[in-house]
Amino acid sequence: MFIVQKYGGTSVGSVERIQAVAQRVLATVSEGHNVAVIVSAMAGETNRLTTLAGAMGGTRNHREMDVLLATGEQVSVALLSMAINAAGGEAVSFLGHQIRMQTDSAFSRARIRAIDARALHGALSNGKVPIIAGFQGQDAEGNITTLGRGGSDTSAVAVAASLQADPNFDDDVCCEIYTDVKGVFTTDPNICSEARLIKRITFDEMMELASLGAKVLQIRSVELASKYRVALHVRSSFTQEGGTMVVHDDEGFEKVVVTGVSLDRDQARITVRDLPLAPGTQADLFGPLGELGVVVDMIVQNPPLDGRTNLSFTLPRTALSQTLELLEPLMAKLGAKTRSDDDVCKVSIVGVGMRSHAGVAQKMFSVLAKEGVEILMISTSEIKVSCIVALRYGELAVRALHAAFELGVG
Ligand code: ADP
Ligand code: ASP
Ligand code: MG
Repeated sequence: MFIVQKYGGTSVGSVERIQAVAQRVLATVSEGHNVAVIVSAMAGETNRLTTLAGAMGGTRNHREMDVLLATGEQVSVALLSMAINAAGGEAVSFLGHQIRMQTDSAFSRARIRAIDARALHGALSNGKVPIIAGFQGQDAEGNITTLGRGGSDTSAVAVAASLQADPNFDDDVCCEIYTDVKGVFTTDPNICSEARLIKRITFDEMMELASLGAKVLQIRSVELASKYRVALHVRSSFTQEGGTMVVHDDEGFEKVVVTGVSLDRDQARITVRDLPLAPGTQADLFGPLGELGVVVDMIVQNPPLDGRTNLSFTLPRTALSQTLELLEPLMAKLGAKTRSDDDVCKVSIVGVGMRSHAGVAQKMFSVLAKEGVEILMISTSEIKVSCIVALRYGELAVRALHAAFELGVG
């Protein structure tokens, strides 16, 4: 078996933890497996670097932000490689550009285009474990890029997919994501003590949970693993337990109605009042936001009155100030007023079983009503229902929904 192991920030957060990771890597090698390792920056490092950039007034300088943030992973690959060598193994570190992790040029949220696994092949055939910096790549001009917060998960899946596709490697490839919880839970175990480990979850459900705030896997890593059929296994780096397998929908899979509850705190709402309605109004409003790279989520437009309407939409809170700067002058020109709320969050329930069950959304609404939580916006898809609520009610709502849908019961 070829095992690609990814260790997150907490798993490499101290000297002792890096040494424990080195032991785990060596144990996997001694079981006879081929191993490649992807690591994140040490816990807290990416945030520390972001704060430093803020002090310089540099967070909008996207190119330099990526140069800065990529250093976190450079430290961890070197340290882990040293720890493995000190423990009697053989390892060699690689930065993104050294395995030609090619991305587009969208700084801070770059997408991977290709990887050249030949460098890894060289290390492996010399009996060395490649230790690869997650989260970073390079664009066609050689600029350093990063893949967005949590992006090391995506680096790991991309390496696994490229090894799987490489005719030089004929092993079965598996990607193990080692983190600070035992796997994927019915909800964030740090919010709800009743959360239960899910042993098998479908890619569809995992994609919804990840996109709705369950940061245990970056959404793009799940998309990539699903597309290239990479076996994905989420586990704890602190224990030996089995964790969660992310699987394609198989028959015989017990389809519970609701599989998980998630909370996304990175949410804000903008409301535009008295917007004059004409063909193209919405395109004029959202076009510039798209160009800015702002990902708009829910959009609600009220029925027009006297040719004017009110329209609300949600977006990541981190993009709020930049969006308002752009939007306010545009809207003022149209005689419309803009207001924003940055104290909202999104609570969602997810489950493939919803496809064939009625009344799930209604149950969610009653549970929130019973807790006195006002729903500000709603959106649904085949397998999820999301509600925007006040940020202060987010955790309460998660716990109430988790209990009402009996997710803690094994
Ligand atoms: P890493 O640094 O290993 O990449 P992250 O902090 O990115 O770890 O992701 C792990 C965290 O994801 C957990 O500590 C937990 O708080 C959070 N989380 C949110 N939702 C879930 C969920 N449904 N299952 C497991 N963890 C979750
Ligand atoms: N170090 C990056 C982050 O904190 C990437 C990662 O951890 O996956 O977001
Ligand atoms: Mg992560």
